[in-house]
Amino acid sequence: MSAPPPSPISSTPSTSRSPSAALSTPIASISRLRGQAGDDVEDRTLSLLEQLISRASVTPDDAGCLTLIGDRLAALGFVLERMDSGPESARVHNLWAIRRGQSSAARCLVFAGHTDVVPTGDLARWASDPFVPTVRDGRLYGRGAADMKTSLAAMVVAVEDFVAAHPSHAGQVAFLLTSDEEGPARDGTVVCVERLRQRGERLDYCIVGEPTSVERLGDTVKNGRRGSLSGRLRVIGVQGHVAYPHLARNPVHQAAPALAELATMVWDAGNAYFPPTTFQISNVQAGTGAGNVIPGEMTVDFNFRFSTESTPDQLRQRVHALLDAHGLDYALDWTLSGEPFLTPVGELSAALSAAIAEETGVQTELSTTGGTSDGRFIAKICPQVVEFGPLNASIHKIDEYVPLDQIAPLTRIYRRTLENLLL
Ligand SMILES: [Zn+2]
Repeated sequence: MSAPPPSPISSTPSTSRSPSAALSTPIASISRLRGQAGDDVEDRTLSLLEQLISRASVTPDDAGCLTLIGDRLAALGFVLERMDSGPESARVHNLWAIRRGQSSAARCLVFAGHTDVVPTGDLARWASDPFVPTVRDGRLYGRGAADMKTSLAAMVVAVEDFVAAHPSHAGQVAFLLTSDEEGPARDGTVVCVERLRQRGERLDYCIVGEPTSVERLGDTVKNGRRGSLSGRLRVIGVQGHVAYPHLARNPVHQAAPALAELATMVWDAGNAYFPPTTFQISNVQAGTGAGNVIPGEMTVDFNFRFSTESTPDQLRQRVHALLDAHGLDYALDWTLSGEPFLTPVGELSAALSAAIAEETGVQTELSTTGGTSDGRFIAKICPQVVEFGPLNASIHKIDEYVPLDQIAPLTRIYRRTLENLLL
């Protein structure tokens, strides 16, 4: 299903969809413009990033990104293992790659991430082609620029520089990459983690390259994520004529007091790392559309984002107890889409924060906010997992971008972190 990889420098003239496209510069010419004065780390990271963005790897398509990265890692002495999974029609591409250092007893640091990107949305609204990396106003635009191809390119170049400087380093360096993080995420990282767990592969530290920076590169590192638990509640009533309510049972009236209670309930107080657990109703449906019919059923979708102070079982039990106390006739289906994970302050967060401070002068804040990520799977076999990457202001949006001046510092931060932990 993969499209043939396009040439690194797009030969198709960038289709001008808006006036600003004419003023922008495809990235291939930027390195040339910079010439000898250019920053070598920036040029090498940009060059790989350009090749990655040019591959239209919309979930679960990898479009050759893993081959490109795999070739670079193989040249450094990494042992590659493809762990592709899922049906042919929606094959997910996964890569595990490891470079074993001098002392096998030493620690293993894993760089994790995804090559897939979310769909572009309306192409006409992009100022330049989302799959032709383009520079405007100090930013590199393209789908995946922030989430998370800049991190992937920076990780690869950081490891290349680390290995060149320390060819007989201690410890292991590994990559765990998938083409399905943005989609169902059933055949991606979770499958690789299970395989690594079965054979007892030792992982000590993992950096997931999700874009975590909020205002400045390095201001935020995620050291955990909340869990996500969803419910679909069906409250069953008896349909009837609104003029004859004694012959019907209105599920909206029956559910309303229970929903009001759920909406104001305190689930936990959070802790030093997590805000309190939240409950939100996302969809409510009832009624036939007619003004004279009492509905026979009401459906309510809701979601918990929960801290490590609550377990999915506790939340389920509390909801059932409340609905039972209100005497509702109901059915309730649960979906647990992610367990929370937490990496308390330790060697990895210290090494990364120090690298950020050395490179940028920014004091990092640890945070557990935001949606779920593949960190939740990796945390099952790796005691220290954090997420760190560039600015996340434009992720999943039209005109996604990464600030150009974050690219080289990100590569250097990943390299410094490797040195802080493995030398
Ligand atoms: Zn991402």
